[in-house]
Amino acid sequence: MQPIVFVLGKPGCGKGTTCSYLSHHLPVQHFSAGDLLRQEVQNPRSLNAQIILDDMKAGRIAKPEITVQLLREAMEAHPAAKAYIIDGFPRELEQLEFFKQQLDVERCFMLHLNCSDEECFTRIHGRHSNRVDDNDQTIKNRLQNFADETLKVINLFKHQGRLMEVNANADKLEVCQNAFRVIQSLVGIRK
Ligand code: UDP
Ligand code: MG
Repeated sequence: MQPIVFVLGKPGCGKGTTCSYLSHHLPVQHFSAGDLLRQEVQNPRSLNAQIILDDMKAGRIAKPEITVQLLREAMEAHPAAKAYIIDGFPRELEQLEFFKQQLDVERCFMLHLNCSDEECFTRIHGRHSNRVDDNDQTIKNRLQNFADETLKVINLFKHQGRLMEVNANADKLEVCQNAFRVIQSLVGIRK
């Protein structure tokens, strides 16, 4: 299977913006776990739409089975990609373990977009997204989740020598360009 780069960072740190830049400038396929879940909420045939919506509203992490299944389907639909970039996942160790059980992962890395809580709040307030989870209480829960669970996943990759970090407090284009350089040298690919 192709290499996978997981892109993690606090809510509002710029994962979506950075990943869309990367997918325009490199032959990689980008999936956002959060976007796949939001699409599933909109899918009238989905059996999971309501429980996903409830989790999102509360800022909780949905059951690993749900997100991993959506990611697997998305990846299988793009077999020609040179690498996959997955943002917003895995947010907790259990999700990572489940993903590895279900998929034949040979090479995976992590890019951490490192951003302060204050900057994340400012960006979410500025994005007028209409998302059910962009309110102050849920943002606090998401930041707490990040501190309690996601940092454990980031630290695991750090100990394994598979972590790259970019300072995400900087200007948007600078963050994107730094992330581009890191990913390009890592997966050794050009468009
Ligand atoms: N989410 C989840 N599992 C995932 C990714 C996302 O349950 O693997 C849910 C979770 O409720 C999260 C929300 O989707 O708070 C939004 O995630 P996204 O990555 O889109 O946004 P972020 O909080 O990083 O801005
Ligand atoms: Mg996002």
